[in-house]
Amino acid sequence: MTKNDSSKPTNFIHQIIEEDLKNGVNDGKVVTRFPPEPNGYLHIGHAKSICLNFGTALKYGGQCNLRFDDTNPEKESQEYIDSIVSDVRWLGFEWSGDIRYTSDYFDTLHEWALHLINEGKAYVDSLSAHEMREYRGTLTEPGKNSPYRDRSVEENLDLFEKMRAGAFDEGDCVLRAKIDMAAANINLRDPVIYRIRKAHHHQSGDKWCIYPSYDFAHGQSDALEGVTHSICTLEFEDHRPLYDWFVENLPVPAKPRQYEFARLNLNYTVTSKRKLKLLVDEQKVNGWNDPRMPTISGLRRRGYTPASIRNFCDMIGVTRSNGIVDMGMLEAAVREDLDANAPRAMCVLDPIKLTITNMPEGELAWFELPAHPKDEAMGIRKVPFTRNLLIEREDFAEVPPKKWKRLAPGEAVRLRGAYVIRCEEVVLDETGEVVELKASFDPQTHGANPTDYKPNGVIHWVSADNAVPCEVRAYERLFTEPNPDGDKERDFHEFINPESLVVYPRAHAEIGLKHAAVESRYQFERQGYFCVDPDTTENRMVFNRTVGLRDSWAKIQGK
Ligand code: ATP
Ligand code: MG
Repeated sequence: MTKNDSSKPTNFIHQIIEEDLKNGVNDGKVVTRFPPEPNGYLHIGHAKSICLNFGTALKYGGQCNLRFDDTNPEKESQEYIDSIVSDVRWLGFEWSGDIRYTSDYFDTLHEWALHLINEGKAYVDSLSAHEMREYRGTLTEPGKNSPYRDRSVEENLDLFEKMRAGAFDEGDCVLRAKIDMAAANINLRDPVIYRIRKAHHHQSGDKWCIYPSYDFAHGQSDALEGVTHSICTLEFEDHRPLYDWFVENLPVPAKPRQYEFARLNLNYTVTSKRKLKLLVDEQKVNGWNDPRMPTISGLRRRGYTPASIRNFCDMIGVTRSNGIVDMGMLEAAVREDLDANAPRAMCVLDPIKLTITNMPEGELAWFELPAHPKDEAMGIRKVPFTRNLLIEREDFAEVPPKKWKRLAPGEAVRLRGAYVIRCEEVVLDETGEVVELKASFDPQTHGANPTDYKPNGVIHWVSADNAVPCEVRAYERLFTEPNPDGDKERDFHEFINPESLVVYPRAHAEIGLKHAAVESRYQFERQGYFCVDPDTTENRMVFNRTVGLRDSWAKIQGK
């Protein structure tokens, strides 16, 4: 991506930065960071944060770091790190320098914890977790000082060293900043800055058995990296005074500032790694990259393009007011991109045999169709017309309703890009189900205006003799409720859509798609946008439906 893309919409963070630049703050530098915790795959909410952090650095010619916020080793893994790295790159962003880890700074953070102890601003507390909660007070009542709050510097240094050396068990004690147990902001009531975790760490191995808390690590890591604008979501607003307290009370090399924006909430899905992990662990979906998941890797597999996700993030903007964005907006973003860029093809999802009685067996006529109706540069595609064709079962009605625009007994339709045909015979099996249609074509009708054959409409088709048998997976929303997370009484599991995946095992795509690469995207005419799934093998192609041609969900909802 190019820098200084001033066509990108601006937002309140950019206004703050422009003000800073005008006043010469931070020597005119803009440094941001994207700080994922490697405890799950990234989701569409993270895409908003990625676009904001990397996009801001690009816009102002600054730098954006990728930093893994890895202070909870039990929940983290290399698999998550790898997936996050690959998702950020796929979205089209490149970080400044090497990948960074909060664990890179564990030595410095430990020194700074000692610094606070020496200054009388931190103490080892031996209250149990339960007692600590009791002493903390509530929103309306102040907290109480811990009986261990006045331990001497020497005792604290000794106990903290014992914590570090593994002399205590998890939960025996913690290191707390000594701030104010009566502070109105609960985050300032002597927050925990180090706790014991006897866990192997994916980066630092077994070097540490004490780990810094998020609050203690985050701002200091920002300072060490020279981050100027530390952008996070609104739930950290109440942590800002603590962020500032550490920056004020430690010998940090820079003074970063924290700014908060509203997180992205999307309807008909959940954007919480914890809940997404449950869906994966309980096998409600087929892994983190299941195309129904709102993860970046799920959207990718579903057929979303990086540009469509970036455009979506631009469309929703960056504000400080929480709201819920309609899934339809995300779908509209990919539809717009694929409408302009995806070549067209025909694919029959649920086929019914159509025999062209006046086309001799073994004969073949090639039709040339544009790959894209509005983009000649995409060239043409060749589609074979033969005696044995397939059309969509739902494009035929034995007893057509009024204003039927498709095929019916005795009626004529145009086969897209080819001839007009008239249905002359309907073959039923013993159960009365239609198994075959017989029709004749009028050779006059290709290109010319039909005279005798007045077609009802246009339907898609493929040659049964020359098509690619494939499986098509059509996805619906993962939840039936707009806000599956919003009902305190009911668990989000209750709203999982049992019909979120519909498989068409006998689909047939036009022959030109035979060697289509995994992830290549097409518009299947009259159907929607589809992409080649990685489950594709040499013998069997698999397509995913990214999105329909129109917002069919709005129609279902009666909007
Ligand atoms: P989750 O709640 O899904 O576990 P998280 O906030 O714990 O998310 P992190 O890995 O800590 O996930 O997030 C990395 C960055 O992405 C943070 O700066 C966070 O504020 C931001 N982020 C996470 N979720 C969203 C969201 N829904 N909208 C915007 N930004 C988000
Ligand atoms: Mg987090």
